[in-house]
Amino acid sequence: MGYPEPIERLIQNLTKLPGIGRKTATRLTFFLLNSKETYVKELSQSMIDIKERIRLCSICFNITDVDPCTICTDPKRDNSPICVVEEPSHLMVMEQAYPGVFKYHVLHGVINPLEGIGPENLKIRELIERVKSSKVSEVLLATNLNMEGNATAYHIANELKPLGVKVTRIASGIPAGGDIVYADPQTIRSSVENRRDIV
Ligand SMILES: [Zn+2]
Repeated sequence: MGYPEPIERLIQNLTKLPGIGRKTATRLTFFLLNSKETYVKELSQSMIDIKERIRLCSICFNITDVDPCTICTDPKRDNSPICVVEEPSHLMVMEQAYPGVFKYHVLHGVINPLEGIGPENLKIRELIERVKSSKVSEVLLATNLNMEGNATAYHIANELKPLGVKVTRIASGIPAGGDIVYADPQTIRSSVENRRDIV
């Protein structure tokens, strides 16, 4: 005999989460069963809220609950370089290393032919249009220093070249092949300080 239906249903739903097997899902389910109702309600509401209240900024494509986001509307960043990152989590890492310094553009991925991801699947066209239609002092390409990140950076650099904007690429500091999201702020700062022209 299995668990009562509501328990079984929650276990099934939790196993759909990354890294959660049936054993963990069962443990979490019984933890919730024994938790205060206020906590369980707050947990479910916070999950609903990320779907209902979080969207992408129409300028930089970062996740936000106001559009344009607070970074895009920050007047102190009016003449800031645009730092191009792969994911919202990378933006957070850059912002921790350089609070208030950059504007951003989130690509939502990298070019990866093996997975069928081309430039048209990323927010690259939007970046080109953005650079065309606003005064941009510099575009800093802060995609990961691995094969896909480099390919994406060079693709964007070539697209931006005819526009005459200064385009730079983060340098050593982040280990080659390294993922930005695991780099500490000091490493990030060194890779930004050593950035070089890419085209
Ligand atoms: Zn924004």
